[in-house]
Amino acid sequence: MDKTAAKTRIDELRTILRENSRRYYVDNAPTMSDFEYDSLMHELEALEAEFPEFDSPDSPTHKVGSDLDAPMGENAESQVFSGFVQRNHRYPMLSLGNTYSISEVEEFAERADKLLDEDFSYCCELKFDGTAICLTYRGGKLVTALTRGDGVKGDDVTENVRHISNIPHKLHGDYPEEFEIRGEILMPYESFDALNRQREENEEAPFANPRNAASGSLKLSDPKEVGRRGLWCTLYHIPAQSVAFETHDEALRKAASWGLPVSDERKVCRNIGEIKDYIDYWDSQRKFLPFATDGIVIKINELSAQRSLGYTSKSPRWAVAYKFKAEQACTEVLSIDYQVGRTGAVTPVANLSPVQLSGTVVKRATLNNDEWMAQLDVRVGDWVYVEKGGEIIPKITSVEKSLRPAASVPTVFPKTCPDCGATLVRGEAEAKWFCPNQDGCPTQIKGRIEHFITRKAMNILAGEATVEQFFDAGLVRTPADLYDLGKHKIVALEGWQDKSAQKFLDSLRDSLSVPFERVLFALGIRYVGETTAREIARHFGDIDAIQAASVEQLLEVPDVGAVIAQSVYDYMHRQEHLEEIFRLRAHGLKFAVEQASAKLSSALEGKTVVISGNFSISRDAMKELIVRHGGKNSSGVSGKTSFLLAGTKPGPEKLKKCEELGIPVLSEESFRALLPEEDGQEETPAEATAGETQLSLF
Ligand code: NAD
Repeated sequence: MDKTAAKTRIDELRTILRENSRRYYVDNAPTMSDFEYDSLMHELEALEAEFPEFDSPDSPTHKVGSDLDAPMGENAESQVFSGFVQRNHRYPMLSLGNTYSISEVEEFAERADKLLDEDFSYCCELKFDGTAICLTYRGGKLVTALTRGDGVKGDDVTENVRHISNIPHKLHGDYPEEFEIRGEILMPYESFDALNRQREENEEAPFANPRNAASGSLKLSDPKEVGRRGLWCTLYHIPAQSVAFETHDEALRKAASWGLPVSDERKVCRNIGEIKDYIDYWDSQRKFLPFATDGIVIKINELSAQRSLGYTSKSPRWAVAYKFKAEQACTEVLSIDYQVGRTGAVTPVANLSPVQLSGTVVKRATLNNDEWMAQLDVRVGDWVYVEKGGEIIPKITSVEKSLRPAASVPTVFPKTCPDCGATLVRGEAEAKWFCPNQDGCPTQIKGRIEHFITRKAMNILAGEATVEQFFDAGLVRTPADLYDLGKHKIVALEGWQDKSAQKFLDSLRDSLSVPFERVLFALGIRYVGETTAREIARHFGDIDAIQAASVEQLLEVPDVGAVIAQSVYDYMHRQEHLEEIFRLRAHGLKFAVEQASAKLSSALEGKTVVISGNFSISRDAMKELIVRHGGKNSSGVSGKTSFLLAGTKPGPEKLKKCEELGIPVLSEESFRALLPEEDGQEETPAEATAGETQLSLF
């Protein structure tokens, strides 16, 4: 590969990995398999090694994936609370180097042998598939619980963790005065199945896997609800700096004696042979565990040896994770359905004889498209291998041809839409067949409305069944029809009462304040996901400018390529779409970016501001005000904080930290006095500043 091609591929890989890391850690809704993600990461590592001139400390290869919340509204869980206080970790919380190959585990052992002068052993453990947690105990009492965050600082989830039943609030025995212990918060399969059953009953999207469910649940705003989610904790690491022990295994034995939940499936191994036996044993036995595991972690057991091997910026050199290949199951194909999506794409899906796989029962698996189906030559009656390696939708990976029934017939991909009968079409560069009947195909019509109402789009309180009911009753054909529904029409339908209808109408009213960025996403333009919609909205400012844009102008938007630009252009030039936008606009939906994001002054240029307490305006509005005046908003007080903006009832911890670090604390009134006249004074109510500390800053 030449230099230019390498640079292009490196940039591309970094973009893909960053986007998928956000989906995985922040949204808890990954769309790529772990194996695929890890393969792309390894490709990037190899390219950066070959072309070191393009390496950068910012690359995903050097950074721990961050679970810290993105701006409000980016999370998959409706109750996710983005207001956690973030705190610095005393010792960085890193990731682990990982491999899917035994020979790389052998290389790890050989390297350790070469580098270490002392005798050493290995401690092999299960790799628990949940979300990492760091607990601090002082005087035997649990004082803080932080998520891994970005490795340097994590979200303080102490209150939530106190509601996880197997985490002791108080220790017994000869525990040290103060120490940290780290581990994983898991959701056992039983709790996971119960939670997803409940979510499906409530017409909420089920969690893809127990890891996402654990991570989403840990960040709920209501600690009691966290308690009801059936989470569970297992601890596996006391930072060597935290307490003095000879070995990792000894530290964990001690932790267990203080009443902490430590897994006893670990084993001290002397050589690579014993490590391989441990891996083989758990590769077959892990399916009997009540929780998900995705591999084995092999750690150097002696703490002095760990110290001499040290760390990279991303992971310890004294440990490696061997990841299990995706678990497979063999089952029978009962039938094949062709599902039509909201954009008209037709996806073949196999209905399977139910089979247990990675702790869940699999009944359906995607066959992607006709080419994939033809390549596999999959037929009804075939026995097939199904995989689900961390990914969401199970995939059929191969057909067991030796079990094929003699009378089986090849599968023929339909020529017409299974829902409306229209002849399917396929563009030159398309992988899928499409139903072109956008305005007449019921599945597409309902799919578009379902997309429009989702939480990430307009967040309207309804689910698939409600959309179906409205559609069947002939009340709704496009999203704009939703806003024409009156209460009398709704209560006339089966199952609706005055109260439920009112709730639905209230959520429609609330949707009028959804920002333009999300309204644009809600329109469901092909290839325009959340991030692209945001970029396009911010670039053009309003819908009129987007409608007037040429393909070339659309291509100027960051991350918009030829396919997306053409799709937006085509969408904006169809009469029905213009009419729909006209109607939605008349109903009061936002079709322009709020001026709120425009810069007002440079009064706070170079200042990092932390806010705490309540103000005369919402906390989000206050954060925005800081940014609009050139400042930076940060969540935790540190040496870099310029001042703490304290409203009524500021957090005592933040005040204390400011006192310790000598950081000024400003009331809302003194803060507003720093801003230019027009935004500085008018909104400050007297009660917001009563009884507060006031220090001058500049
Ligand atoms: P990781 O999950 O591969 O390994 C590190 C983590 O393992 C630690 O942080 C800890 O939480 C956990 N762990 C479990 N048992 C442990 C034990 N006994 N000892 C020590 N640690 C233990 O690494 P990560 O940094 O959390 O995540 C990176 C991985 O996440 C990637 O390799 C990829 O597989 C996956 N990922 C997937 C996507 C996607 O789109 N599918 C996106 C981002 C990341």
